[in-house]
Amino acid sequence: MPHLAEAISSIELTKVNRAFQKLKTQLKPVLQDDDGLNIDAAFNLAVEAHKFQRRKSGEPYILHPIEVARICYAEIGLGPTAVISALLHDVVEDTDVTIEEIRKLFGDKIAKIVDGLTKLDGLYNVESPQAENLKKVLSTLVYDVRVVLIKMADRIHNLRTIGPMPRHKQLKIAAETSFIYAPLAHRLGLYQLKTEFEDICMKITEPDTYADIESKIFATQQERSKYIKEFIKPLNHSIKELDFPFRVTGRPKSISSIWNKIQNKNVPFEEIYDLFAVRIIVDVPRNKEKSVCWQVYSVITDVYKPIPERLKDWVTSPKGNGYESLHTTVIGPMGKFVEVQIRSERMDEIAEKGFAAHWKYKGVKDQNDVYNSWLNTIRETLDEQHTTAIEFLSDFKSNLYGEEVYGFTPKGDMKILPKGASALDFAFAIHTDVGYHATGIKVNNKLVPMGYVISNGDQIHVTTSKNQKPNEDWLKLVVTSKAKAKIRSAMKEDRKKKGELGKEDLERKLKNKNAHIDENVDMLVKYYGLNSRADLFYSIATEQVKLTDLKKFEVVLGKLQVKKSLEETTPIQAPEPIQTHKIDHKNEEENKNLILINGEPASQYKFFLSQCCNPVPGDSIFAYTSSLAGLKIHRTNCPNATNLMAHYGYRILKAEWAGMTSQNFVADLLITGTDTGPGVIRELSNVISDQLGINIRSFSIEGKEGYYEGRISLLIRNKDQLSQAIRTLEAMENISTVVRLNNPNI
Ligand code: MN
Repeated sequence: MPHLAEAISSIELTKVNRAFQKLKTQLKPVLQDDDGLNIDAAFNLAVEAHKFQRRKSGEPYILHPIEVARICYAEIGLGPTAVISALLHDVVEDTDVTIEEIRKLFGDKIAKIVDGLTKLDGLYNVESPQAENLKKVLSTLVYDVRVVLIKMADRIHNLRTIGPMPRHKQLKIAAETSFIYAPLAHRLGLYQLKTEFEDICMKITEPDTYADIESKIFATQQERSKYIKEFIKPLNHSIKELDFPFRVTGRPKSISSIWNKIQNKNVPFEEIYDLFAVRIIVDVPRNKEKSVCWQVYSVITDVYKPIPERLKDWVTSPKGNGYESLHTTVIGPMGKFVEVQIRSERMDEIAEKGFAAHWKYKGVKDQNDVYNSWLNTIRETLDEQHTTAIEFLSDFKSNLYGEEVYGFTPKGDMKILPKGASALDFAFAIHTDVGYHATGIKVNNKLVPMGYVISNGDQIHVTTSKNQKPNEDWLKLVVTSKAKAKIRSAMKEDRKKKGELGKEDLERKLKNKNAHIDENVDMLVKYYGLNSRADLFYSIATEQVKLTDLKKFEVVLGKLQVKKSLEETTPIQAPEPIQTHKIDHKNEEENKNLILINGEPASQYKFFLSQCCNPVPGDSIFAYTSSLAGLKIHRTNCPNATNLMAHYGYRILKAEWAGMTSQNFVADLLITGTDTGPGVIRELSNVISDQLGINIRSFSIEGKEGYYEGRISLLIRNKDQLSQAIRTLEAMENISTVVRLNNPNI
């Protein structure tokens, strides 16, 4: 075995040691007993184990685990156990060190955490649907939350250093991050990490827009700090009189959240007034926090007029992710709306670092704790055998964002549910059996439909009957992942019973044809684009799939094969969610060279431009392989892209435009403007067809009270021509906005 010194140069070794010493200095205040020795031992083991590995940037690999350990401590607020585990997080996966050795050296607890992290990474490399992988992430979450928190630190460091990665890998990582890690960070209260996840993802998928907003924030910085000073000036004196230390900050909102606003509200950057929130943080003992926050509130609203609907009191009842703060929006100088957040130093730490900080203050595990009850719900949902990974994930995800609502049982037990939850959700939250057998629900003593949306403070009484059971329609009445999973599970039980008949029929038919059962059943599942054998049996039982169809096959050596004469003409229903239009046949020769896949001309592939985002030459794109329909080309910022990449990352191929073509591509624009006069359509079409020389494919316009919204579908040659068209339209006098559209519903 060569020596360490032969693998890593002395200059690099100095750098490595310096990084580690810096980490240790930071950690000093929290180290107890053998912590220091164990951290040294973990470091020494990791340096040795990773000595021949390098990161994509060329740096020694060991710098990565050191930095992940630092993030765990400094940015997430975890302690020595997590630091040791983070230092070791990649050794079992990447080197010869085994879990047994780790257990011998560092004990069971650390071995378990490292094992969890190794399994997560192992899965990541297998070509399995990401959903399955992510379900595993969550299983480790309920076992020891630290595994997921360390994984978050690992992910953020990989994202911060993603530059040297090839573009298609960046896109895949970005998709997975925005699909699960960002929402999970939000749910765990890791606000800063969540924001950074989203910003880096946006920087990868929409680099131009990101740079644009970034420079605008920078350009308006001075103006903003001046405004904050002016806002605070009349308050300063009165807050000082309350006589405790306080500080005021006014950081701008993140780039991705500003971009969301621009898109959702359809307004330009300049018109977003709440680019920042003013935060007043007071340093007071725990028992004074609440009253002091309200005193500060009172001082502010003596000077500025508050908007009552915007008052949010998460001091009295914290959010489900532990967040505590008092928010209000007031009308500040120059009539601008200003959001003010009032909180204590403790609340601020929880708001920034989330979960770990929450536990630090909470101390002992309290079963009524907001996190505990949340983790219990995940545990129950995970236990549900019948739910597929994808169903589980989409249910789970829909519960990650958003606010909560509180309801009470007749005995006064409080249940926290996501906002929008129904009375039936509440029944499932009390107990699975209560949900299963719910027949009638009373809210505040009045009978309500099961889909009734509960409000804060509702008192809910559920009556049950043994004969009641869930049906398909119930799925529409609930929003929580738990209720959905339980209802689905009941439905699947039902389907399985019905499927038995289909199974018998099919097996009999196959036997008669002298065909193998097992492998042919699996082949038929694929042939019909179904997800499982159970689905096939059910489809046969309900005659959605007809057994007479089997005539299309002949049996060769026990295997079913589509008869030759039919192969070409039999349409196969692919379970593809997205329709596409094939590139014009006339230009086929030219089109073959239109796109490069992984750097090669795409001529050997059949490819389509996806209709959900209508990519045009010049757009940043990727290719998605769908086994039956060839390749589909999407824009990297297509609304479907995140989902596809996160679920089927292994099907993503790098794609780029090879050259220009004389062919036309579809681009849809949404135009809003004032003046609904009859001349609008004429004026717009003049500009587009005569002045710009672009063909209009379709055009519809709708006016309401001096304001109109037009949808124009254009046939254009490339992105430059499209950008020019957008600029020209934007410059027209009566036009307010011009936005390129996606069709997420196709
Ligand atoms: Mn790592």
